[in-house]
Amino acid sequence: MTEGAAQRHLRALVRDIPGFPQPGIVFKDVTPLLADPLGLASAVELLAELARPFEPDVVIGAEARGFLLGPALACALGCGFALARKPGKLPHTTVRAEYQLEYGTDALELHATSIAPGARVLVHDDVLATGGTALALAELVRAVDAQVTGFAFLIELAFLGGAERLAPADVRSVLRYSGD
Ligand code: AMP
Repeated sequence: MTEGAAQRHLRALVRDIPGFPQPGIVFKDVTPLLADPLGLASAVELLAELARPFEPDVVIGAEARGFLLGPALACALGCGFALARKPGKLPHTTVRAEYQLEYGTDALELHATSIAPGARVLVHDDVLATGGTALALAELVRAVDAQVTGFAFLIELAFLGGAERLAPADVRSVLRYSGD
């Protein structure tokens, strides 16, 4: 399958749920894509192609939806995966960052030992909306003295301006939506 055909296949597998989890939000439901063998494989492959030039040592992703494709992406890139979790979930010494969602606020924690100082880190999530989660992940990377070399998302909701908030960092996404 060509890259264009794979992208069309993926786009057809992303289901829009208007008004979830609250009025005004159009939720991008990726569960049909994850359930489709070809969709899942090409999502990981296209993400890996976008992210390979960043030459990461580690992929970082946030609970919960950064865990969907993050470990598979890390595996395809020959990297490890570092998990950022909601407060109180990680048992060892953590660093912490506060962040804002398109709908609400929260915090993320990372085991201080899960990324080595100086490591090259790729920040990944399924969806880039306002960029708050990705900024918090970048803050966690800085807190352990490592460096973000790039950002790779399955879906970018470009009309919410997340990439502008992450500028001047290099932000890449498999599927870009310019309207809701
Ligand atoms: P943000 O921090 O605003 O960039 O939001 C990104 C996170 O929130 C991702 O982990 C997404 O899973 C989730 N998210 C935000 N908005 C949406 C949306 N419209 N559809 C699906 N997921 C979303």
